[in-house]
Amino acid sequence: MKEEFEPKRENPAEPYPQESQKAARTRLIHGVGRTRKWDYDHHVVPPMTSSATFRLDSARRGAQGFVEFGHLSPDSQERGPIYIYDRLDEPTCGMLEEILAVAERSECAVCFASGMAAISAALGILAPSGRHIVSHRTLYGCTYSLMTNWLPRNHVDSSFVNLVETGSLTNAVLPNTRVVYFETPVNPDMQLIDIAAVRREVDMINKTRREEERIWIVVDNTFASPFCQRPIALGADVVVESLTKAIGGFGTDLGGVVCGPRSLHDPLVLYRKDFGGCLSPKSAWPPLVYGLPSLAARMANYQKSAHHIARFLEGHVKVEMVRYPGLSSFPQFELAKAQMTDESGHFSPGSMIYFQLRQASPMDNPGERLIDWIAQNSYCITLAVSLGQIKTLIECPYTMTHAALPPERKADDGLAPGGIRLSVGLEDWHDLTSELAAALKAI
Ligand SMILES: *Cc1c(COP(=O)(O)O)cnc(C)c1O
Repeated sequence: MKEEFEPKRENPAEPYPQESQKAARTRLIHGVGRTRKWDYDHHVVPPMTSSATFRLDSARRGAQGFVEFGHLSPDSQERGPIYIYDRLDEPTCGMLEEILAVAERSECAVCFASGMAAISAALGILAPSGRHIVSHRTLYGCTYSLMTNWLPRNHVDSSFVNLVETGSLTNAVLPNTRVVYFETPVNPDMQLIDIAAVRREVDMINKTRREEERIWIVVDNTFASPFCQRPIALGADVVVESLTKAIGGFGTDLGGVVCGPRSLHDPLVLYRKDFGGCLSPKSAWPPLVYGLPSLAARMANYQKSAHHIARFLEGHVKVEMVRYPGLSSFPQFELAKAQMTDESGHFSPGSMIYFQLRQASPMDNPGERLIDWIAQNSYCITLAVSLGQIKTLIECPYTMTHAALPPERKADDGLAPGGIRLSVGLEDWHDLTSELAAALKAI
């Protein structure tokens, strides 16, 4: 009887009309509009759930939950999930996954405890024992370590090639290759890899292969964030990324996600259940409530400041080289404009800058001196790894985030000991450039 007094939409699981036509900045705030992941929908802010286990109404419902888990069916989507235990599935993480799929324009998203847990799950599923990965030669240090220290123990080998050059991929592909893996922009040197060109190359190879032997394109989208680039729309099969960085945005929690076709949903949640790298609801809540809803506004500000700072660095006598995709001097500027755009098609070169200082002699390391000066004297630039946060962060990839890469590989990609990675935050850019100017003057 109560229903008569509570006007309800006929089917709350049904999307709002025109939901999909709303601008990205609106969709990053409202996600799928109505969710089936949480059955009390009067909260304006999604709740942070905290329940390791869930009450089941009957043995039958419990049994059905186990049967349905890892078998995504239209039926269970319509009714909403039967929650059993936090490691299998739970509402806060589920709501975050819905909005991440919206952000990345993917059919599904599955969250993990960290970016590395997401990357290892994606590769664990797509490259089982005996298979081979072709990867770009410069990678986030832990991803490189995963591919060289751990995956080989499972007889999964990787070839590292320069995917910036077209053709290098086809030469490296073996009959057992199943994954092409790269970051774009590459962390930390800011080179770009043309996702559509890789798609064309992989399509040529896949044409000669059976369905189960086809090669998947996996892109780490951490540096750009889904606001600046949606790799799946450009031709990738799967996106992996860290939620710790621009998506989380406030630097409070670790997290990671794999976004891809619906066919990957079940293997991903089953993998997560058994390897156990699930995202805690307490860590899913900040990106759901603060990170994604503020991503568009933060990124618009980061980019504006990054542009001013990159221009300032470019004009400074002590600076040898600056790579920021938004500069017209950027070597791959045309590709940047085509590949890094927001949903409305506006050029979105992101918040990351890589630069090198002029050396006085071959043994001179002015970058380290600059970083040390900033660590001691700077008010608004912080020496710390990580990126995409409201605070501006600076670090030295050669000896810090990319220490795991062998020196020859670093040299090949122009990663010098004094190279500096700057993640631009929300401070006033005048304050940031004046502190950089003071640091450059002091060293
Ligand atoms: C930080 C980072 C990762 C790993 O993410 P975590 O959340 O720290 O595990 C992976 N790829 C790139 C490009 C990163 O910057």
